[in-house]
Amino acid sequence: MSQPQRRPPGELPILHVDMDAFYVEVERMRDPSLIGRPVIVGGSGRRGVVASASYEARAAGVHAAMPTAQARRLCPSAVVVTSDFSGYIEASSAIAEVFESVTPHVEPIALDEAFLDVSGAHRLFDSSSEIAWHLRNAVREAVALECSVGVASNKTLAKLASVAAKPAVHPDGPRPGLGVCVVSVADELDFLQAHRVEALWGVGPMTLRRLNEINVSTVGDLAAVPLERLVSTVGAAHGAHLAALARGIDDRPVHRGGLPRSVSHEQTFETDLTGADRVRSEAVRLADAVASRLRANGLSGRTVTVKVKHPDFSLRTRAHTIPEPIQTGHALAHVAQELIGSLDLHGGIRLLGVAVSNLEETASAETESATRSADEREAAPAQPHQMALDLNLPPDAQTECGDETIRGPTGDTELDLRLAVALDAIRNRFGRTVIAHGSAALRDGTPGERRWGR
Ligand SMILES: [Mg+2]
Repeated sequence: MSQPQRRPPGELPILHVDMDAFYVEVERMRDPSLIGRPVIVGGSGRRGVVASASYEARAAGVHAAMPTAQARRLCPSAVVVTSDFSGYIEASSAIAEVFESVTPHVEPIALDEAFLDVSGAHRLFDSSSEIAWHLRNAVREAVALECSVGVASNKTLAKLASVAAKPAVHPDGPRPGLGVCVVSVADELDFLQAHRVEALWGVGPMTLRRLNEINVSTVGDLAAVPLERLVSTVGAAHGAHLAALARGIDDRPVHRGGLPRSVSHEQTFETDLTGADRVRSEAVRLADAVASRLRANGLSGRTVTVKVKHPDFSLRTRAHTIPEPIQTGHALAHVAQELIGSLDLHGGIRLLGVAVSNLEETASAETESATRSADEREAAPAQPHQMALDLNLPPDAQTECGDETIRGPTGDTELDLRLAVALDAIRNRFGRTVIAHGSAALRDGTPGERRWGR
């Protein structure tokens, strides 16, 4: 496998900017009495989870996505503040403006995080490192908040670098971090391969367990595993993805804001759905609705997520990432149904959702009619404030990808695509309820109209 291409120093194109304890710091601006005290932001109810914890609370072992009740036990002196997104969204928009003053190529990942491609910004700045320091100052000036910036040749490395730049948790209070961490191309493999393997995108608990079983605990260990071994351990697509990441190869571009993170439909049923067949058939209907929205927006996606809520309101999600992006209901329903097969449906479910993320724009002449024109897309401002809708789940409780096993082929077939084009044409002409997949005849004409995520 070839080494990532060498670039002259100062030309590292990717920045990852991540606000430090963002929700907590916004709450502290609202209520200065919280400054210096351990703070937990999240749901305070019986089922509440931690959305963000101050460094003081983290020192006691509290972390995001942990049940708030458990966090209170670990850190009894912590003040629990209920999340109020209006303040976060306001700060997030101001931060996005700072980013956009440097480059139009900003990809918001969450309210407090973004990737920036600064390869076109070197006329104004000598180096990417200088841009990073400028951003830190400009963000502080705009919103009086601190951020950490990673600078590297690609997204994976930049994200790990921003983590390396963060303040450190310490029992006596947070220790300031580097603020900016620059990973030069010469150092990137050493930097990357010293990390624990779970630091890589897509390595969740299940993948980690499988990797540990073959004695892989660091990224360096992972890079040393022959591809065939990796593929037999974690599957073909995931194996290839991890092998590339472990070698510092990550070609994902920075997508301009405006591209949604996910397209989804979900529905709460008046009476709990019982029986796997009934759930699967509803999944086909939701998958069909998601797929037609993907096509209408000229998008396709690689990660399929199924979400169910049980009668006791507990939420389960399952996700799978496939090698090629899809945009047809047929392909999407196949993955969704397989994922449903891995869920415990005992006792029924009250809510079902199907989502596709890892989106990319798909040029398709046939679906162009409903797609925004290139000019419109160019003019569309980044809309980080809309990311709030993605926060139905606590930020760190997002399902990791690639952990579920899917049987059978997963791509859009030529026939799927042609059927989808025909379906779109009929629906555009006669209305959306006129035709549905046989297994998903529209009962009430509303294909899960409530959108989950954007
Ligand atoms: Mg953050």
